[in-house]
Amino acid sequence: MLSYRHGFHAGNHADVLKHIVLTLILDYLKQKNKPYWFIDTHAGAGKYSLESDFSNKTSEHLDGIGKIFHDEKKPLALSKYIEIIRHLNGGDQLKQYPGSPWIASQLLSYEDKIRLFELHPTDLTSLLHVLGKKSNTKIYGEDGFNGLKAMIPPPPKRALVLTDPSYEIKNDYLKVVESLKDSLKRFETGIYMVWCPLIDRSEPLVMLKQLQKLNTKEWLYISLSIAKPSDDIGMFGSYLFIINPPWKLKEQIEEIMPYLSHQLGLNGHGSYEIEAKTS
Ligand code: SAM
Repeated sequence: MLSYRHGFHAGNHADVLKHIVLTLILDYLKQKNKPYWFIDTHAGAGKYSLESDFSNKTSEHLDGIGKIFHDEKKPLALSKYIEIIRHLNGGDQLKQYPGSPWIASQLLSYEDKIRLFELHPTDLTSLLHVLGKKSNTKIYGEDGFNGLKAMIPPPPKRALVLTDPSYEIKNDYLKVVESLKDSLKRFETGIYMVWCPLIDRSEPLVMLKQLQKLNTKEWLYISLSIAKPSDDIGMFGSYLFIINPPWKLKEQIEEIMPYLSHQLGLNGHGSYEIEAKTS
């Protein structure tokens, strides 16, 4: 039985990093006038109230999007991400936060396709409510690792696959690597983005080493820490591992990360890393 609920964490520092990069990649794909697919193997509820009991219990968004949304010194590269959140909120009051499926629904056109997997029955119901009526979107209450196999390569041979488990099941670290190995055999030119928490355990870094050894020509690794591992705050940061990253993504990230780590770091302890393999 799954107990993780993303509503407790929506809009936190890890969501901010993940959703900024997601927006940049989807925006890049949109620039070529050819259809593409967005596949989210662990989709969540679609959007989240920041005023709900969930969110109030932890208020994680206050140390995430709360520190950026109204800041006037944001880099220009964040404009689209902020515009999407403003659109969801119908203005400048931050009451709701978008999940990855909602962000994609704002950036993809009707010719593009969105495919979403979510296993938790409550989040699945919410997701169906939020995006279930969109003609370019299909939502599956199935295991995303399994579902992905039948879905790639998609007909237009252009896609971003987001793999964003909660890692509440330790096996997820292994499953992510196995899923990518299998996916690269089926669809080696796809763009793959994996999210992982930075916590004081060995699994995230072991998984990173395995991801770096995959048979890929290009990858980009981005991490954001808001505290020191020893600060005892649980998840002190997160990383993204992107296979076949779009051209220029690294440059955009290099522009954004000094700002993000400064703005989101607790007690001046924000830091980031960017590493890339290029062909
Ligand atoms: N991608 C979302 C976003 O950025 O807004 C957040 C997703 S949340 C981190 C992970 C979600 O995966 C949870 O809602 C959880 O219920 C769901 N989940 C866990 N295991 C799954 C699986 N094997 N297949 C599909 N969904 C799963």
